[in-house]
Amino acid sequence: MSKIVTINAYAALEAGGQFEPYSYEVGELTPNEVEIDVLHCGICHSDLSMVDNEWGISQYPLVAGHEVIGTVAATGSNVRNLEKGLTVGLGWHSGYCGDCYSCKTGDQNLCMSAQPTIVAHHGGFADKVRADASSVIPIPEGIDLESAGPMLCGGITVFNPMVQFEVKSTDKVAVIGIGGLGHIALQFLNAWGCEVTAFTSSESKRQEALNLGAHKTLNSRAQGEIEAAANSFDFIISTVNVKLDWNLYVNTLKPKGRLHFVGATLEPLDLGVFPLLMGQKSISGSPVGSPATMEKMLEFAHLHQIKPQVEKYPMSKINEAIDHLKSGKARYRIVLSNV
Ligand code: NAP
Ligand code: ZN
Repeated sequence: MSKIVTINAYAALEAGGQFEPYSYEVGELTPNEVEIDVLHCGICHSDLSMVDNEWGISQYPLVAGHEVIGTVAATGSNVRNLEKGLTVGLGWHSGYCGDCYSCKTGDQNLCMSAQPTIVAHHGGFADKVRADASSVIPIPEGIDLESAGPMLCGGITVFNPMVQFEVKSTDKVAVIGIGGLGHIALQFLNAWGCEVTAFTSSESKRQEALNLGAHKTLNSRAQGEIEAAANSFDFIISTVNVKLDWNLYVNTLKPKGRLHFVGATLEPLDLGVFPLLMGQKSISGSPVGSPATMEKMLEFAHLHQIKPQVEKYPMSKINEAIDHLKSGKARYRIVLSNV
């Protein structure tokens, strides 16, 4: 007889719905699967977008949550590297095909068949979550567990481009949007050795951005301030989910500079091509990061004592926490906790 496990979660039952207690049953673990007891789970803006079906890929009941810190509760028969009781993390992906070129070359986050944790799969706003062992990341000793969850999606999403595009310590780098992702980016880039500029639309965040590692701040919606920063940056990471005047930002890049998108802006880009041609500038985007890059990021964060700044809510107060994030007042990431 196969063993049935009941998972107690919170789910949105329809687009834009509140989270409600929702239990579901799962059977025997498959050979490569891991069951995680969830200790903490961050709330990413992508959870909000998924609840509202902004990207048209949501399925309901939707158990969101993809910044999990927990302990291994059980492992499938083939799992060798993760033992019961180990502290682990789980991010946007909870499995990869393992066979495609991207998987074979260590770019699992680019696998076209990767399983997102909260698309057609139940995520971490729950007491347990299951995932393929290949996507479960051991958390090094000494990392603060209450604040580590946001590293698994927010952190890796801004760390990965620094690795992919070989950002140099002598580079001048700007971050647009100082929210969950942006506030971690400031800390990483400062520790990386860069001169860091924070673009924020919130006047109250200007001093906070300096405390987080920015050397300068600019208003992301003030045309004059952005124009005055022409020819300043080697690299810009945009974490906003809204449309800004991207041509103004391209103008702040130095020749050979790059404007890199990680924020999921829905509106298409309306960019002049000539400034790209004349300055040999690049536009790019990327999703989260590979498991190996996540491990590298956690080591870097531990060495430099980088931690997401979090506000903690009990898991049962999930709707209150979501409203707080929507209000724009979260500083800077909300973490739901079962302990
Ligand atoms: P967040 O905490 O809500 O932060 C977004 C920030 O954008 C806000 O704090 C705000 O910063 C800025 N912003 C919001 N509305 C704005 C407006 N009208 N004008 C100017 N700036 C505005 O969100 P997050 O969790 O960091 O996620 C950011 C985006 O990244 C989302 O679209 C999310 O879906 C996406 N994401 C992508 C990946 C990936 O793999 N590529 C991974 C995770 C998340 P200021 O107050 O400083 O202006
Ligand atoms: Zn996320």
